[in-house]
Amino acid sequence: MSKSFVLVINSGSSSLKFAVIDAATGDDVLTGLGECFGLPESRMSWKFNGEKTEIAIEGDDSHHKIAIGKLVGLTEELGFSNDIVAIGHRIVHGGEKFTKTVRITEEVTAEIEALSDLAPLHNPAGAIGIRAAMEAFPALPQFAVFDTAFHQTMPEKAFTGAISNELYTKYGIRRYGFHGTSHYYVSREAAKMLDKNIDEASFISVHLGNGASVCAIENGKSVDTSMGFTPLAGLMMGTRSGDLDPGVIEFLIKKGWTTEQVFDALNKKSGFLGVSGLTSDARGILDAMEEGHEGAKLAFEVFTYRVAKYIGSYMIPLSNLDAVIFTGGIGENSLPIRREILNNLKLLGFVEDEKGNESARFGDSGIIAKSEMLDAVAMVIPTNEEFVIAQQSVELL
Ligand code: ADP
Repeated sequence: MSKSFVLVINSGSSSLKFAVIDAATGDDVLTGLGECFGLPESRMSWKFNGEKTEIAIEGDDSHHKIAIGKLVGLTEELGFSNDIVAIGHRIVHGGEKFTKTVRITEEVTAEIEALSDLAPLHNPAGAIGIRAAMEAFPALPQFAVFDTAFHQTMPEKAFTGAISNELYTKYGIRRYGFHGTSHYYVSREAAKMLDKNIDEASFISVHLGNGASVCAIENGKSVDTSMGFTPLAGLMMGTRSGDLDPGVIEFLIKKGWTTEQVFDALNKKSGFLGVSGLTSDARGILDAMEEGHEGAKLAFEVFTYRVAKYIGSYMIPLSNLDAVIFTGGIGENSLPIRREILNNLKLLGFVEDEKGNESARFGDSGIIAKSEMLDAVAMVIPTNEEFVIAQQSVELL
């Protein structure tokens, strides 16, 4: 039987993540990463059958183009180029235009570029990846999967900012939300695990990675989410502040800070890094806490408290709750962080299942707490955005 492999491309401004995924099973055939594009140390590496290879990227042409061009020869050499049936691109911002995965045409690419105003770092990079892939693999159909698309079902009351309506009509300022592919995937997997029909299942999905967001899902659809107009809103993250009184911005500017300095601080020097003064990495925070580091302890407390507050408030959009789902690098692996979040949720009746919490780690899913009061569970589901991209590309073929 012929295989359905999909080349999944996630193109950043100076990087490129790629994977060849078996769309039937979700297995990684090949995974790889290009980094430091445009710099002398520009390189790409990949893993195939457990073996890692790294090469330098050199040349005056765009490094995205060179790296994607190399994938043509690589997939031939590794013997599965004929099994690749489509290319799926992860695109950060689909605005209000893209509510689901679409087949890429010149018009779609131009629309992704036109949305660059809303995602100035990500969308131009996504379009560069698309154009490079079109050139390298002209015979393959290509698809765009948007981080924002899953949240386009939010009702107006959830996506409207409490600001002048003109800012929405003139500039499109509203809540868009991100991490949609991850919230989509884990909610479907959770419904399967709980033996529920997704169209009748409701969840609070909590994605905790370097970026973090919560999503309220009613009958399988996103009805509210914590990231907003940009991925800076909502939860505290690795280096991002999350929610903050906007008055702070004016205050700092009056103190002589430039807009760039303010947003550099909020995007890159806040969150775990800012509060701990130590690291943006949750593992580093937990290790330092064990050694008695006060900043790390405070970062842990602020983070877990804020996640719990969001979970509590995301009961409001739902008429029923089947599960709170933890995912992302922290949600999938960090026992102490999950434990502290659950401790903060006692009023909702959550009681930790210690054994469950200990075993649902490092790629294993499972139930980690129960609330009799809500007739709901808390569970861990490892996310797999690449699998969704591969599946949806093949479905649309
Ligand atoms: P990204 O948002 O960049 O995809 P990930 O979802 O991979 O990030 O999450 C990265 C975060 O997950 C880091 O803070 C990292 O420390 C944390 N993490 C990964 N493994 C563990 C672990 N075993 N215990 C605690 N935190 C972990």
